[in-house]
Amino acid sequence: MSDQYVKVQVEQMKSFGEDAEKEGVDTEEQVPGSSPSASVSPDHPTGTDASSTSLPCKQTGKSRSKPGREDKRHTSDVASQGSVVSSEKNLNRLGYERTLQVKGTGKILQRKSEPNGNYVTIHTSKNIEEMRREEGFKLAKKRRPVTVDTSKAKTSLEALKISIKQLKWKEFPLGRRTACDIYWHGVSFHDNENIVSGQVNKFPGMIEMLRKINLSRAVRTMQELFPEEYDFYPRSWILPEEYQQFTTQIHMVKEKDATVNPTFIVKPDGGSQGDGIYLIRDPSDLKLMTGSQAKQGVVQEYIQKPLLIDKLKFDIRLYVLIKSLEPLEIYIAKEGLTRFCTELYQEPSQKNLSHVFMHLTNYSLNVHSGNFVHSDSQSTGSKRTLSSVLYRLAAKGVDIKRVWSDIIALVIKTVIAVVPELRVYYQADIPPGKPGPTCFQILGFDILLMKNLKPVLLEVNSNPSMRIEHEQEVAPGVFEYVPSPVDEEVKVGVIRDTLRLMDPGHKKPTVPQQRAGGFEQGEEIPMEEETQEKSQDETGTLPSLCLKQVYPKYSKQFNYLRLVERIAALFIRFLGVKGNMRLGPTAFRTFIRTWWNISQLKRLISDMKRESQRGESCRRKDAKGGSPCCGKLL
Ligand code: ADP
Repeated sequence: MSDQYVKVQVEQMKSFGEDAEKEGVDTEEQVPGSSPSASVSPDHPTGTDASSTSLPCKQTGKSRSKPGREDKRHTSDVASQGSVVSSEKNLNRLGYERTLQVKGTGKILQRKSEPNGNYVTIHTSKNIEEMRREEGFKLAKKRRPVTVDTSKAKTSLEALKISIKQLKWKEFPLGRRTACDIYWHGVSFHDNENIVSGQVNKFPGMIEMLRKINLSRAVRTMQELFPEEYDFYPRSWILPEEYQQFTTQIHMVKEKDATVNPTFIVKPDGGSQGDGIYLIRDPSDLKLMTGSQAKQGVVQEYIQKPLLIDKLKFDIRLYVLIKSLEPLEIYIAKEGLTRFCTELYQEPSQKNLSHVFMHLTNYSLNVHSGNFVHSDSQSTGSKRTLSSVLYRLAAKGVDIKRVWSDIIALVIKTVIAVVPELRVYYQADIPPGKPGPTCFQILGFDILLMKNLKPVLLEVNSNPSMRIEHEQEVAPGVFEYVPSPVDEEVKVGVIRDTLRLMDPGHKKPTVPQQRAGGFEQGEEIPMEEETQEKSQDETGTLPSLCLKQVYPKYSKQFNYLRLVERIAALFIRFLGVKGNMRLGPTAFRTFIRTWWNISQLKRLISDMKRESQRGESCRRKDAKGGSPCCGKLL
């Protein structure tokens, strides 16, 4: 990776200020003042009754303070007061155990679902809960607080501060002379240079890997090896290099069947917030040049039949934590956001191709439409929680367990596609043996549901917006940042629980033994956690984690896809010079001379043979069931 590149980015950002965070920094989606209600994890909405959206612990009070009055929101020290208050309210209501804490007594009232959908209150053993909490407090007292360097957090800062306060950790807003446990970067791994210990919230190379061209390349490699497994990514051509291929293929399709009139979406590489995106129906409409320079980007099959709600197109923003690359550990946030278009959807026609409010779901675009709805509720308006949308679908009889299971599979497969190159980047920046930090990263997956409910990957953001306030015109020409409860609800939960998982004082959570390795290929991943991740909260005041481990938990179903990663591991092994990214002639000769001696490679070849057999049986299966988007067009 080019250090120069990153430096330029950082310099640019300094000169533009926070709002100019670019290069994979997705600064969209601030939703204005809505009053939060109890959130529902996608783990829960199993009922088909729409009324189940009003949960027993529904909060009607406003949890957000006005800007500048931060203290009011940090109400996690509830135990010192004397009334019944939902611990979820104070902690962003992202706890999915429906518990009420009776303050001052240590009693927990748990709610349990009855067959009729109502909840009954059960008084759990006071002594056990009390003992657990007392022990927790003692333990927490003994340990020094975890230290977090927030000096480079940029637009995540507000949500990060709230999270650190809730965890009672120690923030270093200006950095620290001695090492911190965690460094929170707003843009890239290189925001702070020379970190030799601790953990950084960015992987080297992630920005590069997730740019539109590189993501398309990585997924395509996997599509070539496992076409049926990777049919969730629309067919894409890389510009300018595949322009000829694109035009030839489209003309061939049209010649074959004159009634076929596909639409394509053109996206600039490294663009975000819908910038520079347009739709075309003919290759000749491609704008290939900017001045004398060829435009870099992708042209992609446009999904013409998305699932609509209220006749509007919408997409899903899902937060995914890569906790570690080696061993690979992936977590998915149970709550996410959905972003709605603001013009009624129609299938693309020459007439409506330029209607961005109809075809593009970006918040940053739609907020400028007169139809944008700043809602008071999480289940209406132009930005809603994912759980509210899933509930709505469940009420209509949609099998949302299946949808959720497909989404998890999409996420795991996408991560598996980018991991091989990430590992090469990683060893170049943090070569084995050299002191350095370990890394983790929150990614933003943008997912579209097709009319047939199949999830389609649109893109992955290496820097999803973690802003919890949005700009609003409070008087003509006067703009102010105002709190956005929907964003706070979701994003603080994601950051706080990421920190909890990365807590250096905690021993690694073990993969549940009875399910280690997970489910067989094709088996549905359960929505409801039988073994929900423990809260990892010594004080007992935090809700259970909103992040759910999906890998290695379900590794059995996906491990066979990790072939390219094994090749990357061999590549890294033969690089010769640690921290290098190129295989020189000597290293290559060594590789060729010794390859036959490597048991790993032999295993790889036998795996490939097995896979081609498995692929054959998949193809036979799909021939019966029909396969979705990719390859359907061409
Ligand atoms: P950006 O990074 O600029 O937001 P995206 O790839 O997310 O670029 O695309 C912007 C929007 O365009 C998406 O939010 C979605 O609404 C729409 N979109 C993108 N790709 C497709 C596609 N292949 N089919 C249909 N709609 C798409």
